[in-house]
Amino acid sequence: MPTIAIRSAWIFSLSSPPIANAWLVAKDGLIEFIGRELPERFQTVPRWELPNTALLPGLINAHCHLEFSDMTAPIEFTGSFITWIQSVVRHRSSANPTDLEAQRQKAIEQGIRESYLQGTRVLLDTITAPWSPSWIPAPGSLMKEAIGDIPPIVSDALIGDAEWYLLPIPEVLDINPSRGEATRKFAQEVHEQIDALSLTDDAIGASGCLIKRVAVSPHSPYTASLELFRACCDASHECGALVAPHLAESQEEIAWLSSRAEPIESALAPFRDSAFGLRKASIEEYLDAVLHSAKGIIAHANYLDDILLSKISQRSPLVAIAHCPRTYRHFHPDSSSQNYPMAERLRNHVSHVLGTDSRASNPDLSIWREMQTLLRYPGLTGNQILEMGTRSSAELLGLDSLGSLEVGKRSLCTAILLAEPLAEHDLSRSLLADENRAFPLEILMSRAWQQIV
Ligand SMILES: [Zn+2]
Repeated sequence: MPTIAIRSAWIFSLSSPPIANAWLVAKDGLIEFIGRELPERFQTVPRWELPNTALLPGLINAHCHLEFSDMTAPIEFTGSFITWIQSVVRHRSSANPTDLEAQRQKAIEQGIRESYLQGTRVLLDTITAPWSPSWIPAPGSLMKEAIGDIPPIVSDALIGDAEWYLLPIPEVLDINPSRGEATRKFAQEVHEQIDALSLTDDAIGASGCLIKRVAVSPHSPYTASLELFRACCDASHECGALVAPHLAESQEEIAWLSSRAEPIESALAPFRDSAFGLRKASIEEYLDAVLHSAKGIIAHANYLDDILLSKISQRSPLVAIAHCPRTYRHFHPDSSSQNYPMAERLRNHVSHVLGTDSRASNPDLSIWREMQTLLRYPGLTGNQILEMGTRSSAELLGLDSLGSLEVGKRSLCTAILLAEPLAEHDLSRSLLADENRAFPLEILMSRAWQQIV
């Protein structure tokens, strides 16, 4: 059985305190040992020493839209959220219909590649048509592309079945009957395609790099009716699916829900049918629907009051808010990012996971950079930030073999290249310093390998 031992300056397992100069032994993609002294039985296995490196569980991006990954810069926010959304929709529809599929596939591949190279191991991707499971790169291919000839011991012992995973979340909306019909059909087709895949990875529940789970994203209250939200969430309650809507993202959305206020009211007019316009529901009714689902990830939830937040806390950790720090900053340029009350919300037991959102609002897709951004939020501990980028998402999704580094779990590590030794008095915050960069562990090992050779 292929086995390797890796010594790193630090291991942050997320299940016990960080260990300095620690060994991680991996065999067939699973962790065999973590600790300070390498046991006698592993003394003869190949060893790697990574002195300027800290190991973390693989990072998880709990909210993104890879279809926009070909954008070179975020779309400017000029003060109106719905105006920004209209620009995003224009970008999506600007593609030439004859090469839409090729362009979409390229953007998704680009987003996956970029995410992997920055140390992200799991992506929850909100998808729209066209989309195909055949577009998702095969296990090992990104690793080979990045490293070239991989020492077989690295791929066999450390990586196992796949070096990253993706959960596709089809978006549904019913702003008018034809969009309702088309998106419902799309979601059904995606679920059938995913269902038809045969499992290759029992521990993750994945087929190749695709996580074989049912998930759906009713887009948002201004494009999806309460009835559609309830239908998705009732189905989730029955079958355990993940429901991942956008909710309370902007004050414009809150104002439109309560009084059909501008500018959303006029912006929707050309697209919605009259029946959609008449179906009024409150933010609380939308939230109650999501809270009925088996698992929920609510993207943004920036503008919920304490009563609604306390409802979310009662479903913790199976319903969480996906916060996207740099996207939040994109839409709040005048106030500092410190205005998102993350510490207070965590203190009140409102679970949070982290996402990047898309390159329409973010300069890149690095979850590590999102975690580093959180360092500027007041009152957060480094450990809270590390958990939101790893363990919290894994627990919510029931990905039991990911989220922390423990014997028997997968050895898919994100490696942090340390610019300086960590400050012993505040290890986690020191780990998150701006100069420290995240990679898949195998890439740093490959560099170490090449240096040794
Ligand atoms: Zn989003």
